[in-house]
Amino acid sequence: MNDRVARCPQCNQSCEAGPHRPFCSARCQQLDLARWLGGDYRIETEDGPSLLGPDEASPASSDLSSWL
Ligand SMILES: [Zn+2]
Repeated sequence: MNDRVARCPQCNQSCEAGPHRPFCSARCQQLDLARWLGGDYRIETEDGPSLLGPDEASPASSDLSSWL
């Protein structure tokens, strides 16, 4: 066991010392921050999923099989 290797608390990936410690990257840093703030994983999504609406789960994909 060698715990000297830091692990990113977001993706649990071993990471070297860097500007984003203890995270491996700015992305993981922001993801963790976003989760900490909002309790959600939404990141870099200015426009929410409300644009798609509940119709996003429509079985349109199954209709594609008839076209193929
Ligand atoms: Zn990470």
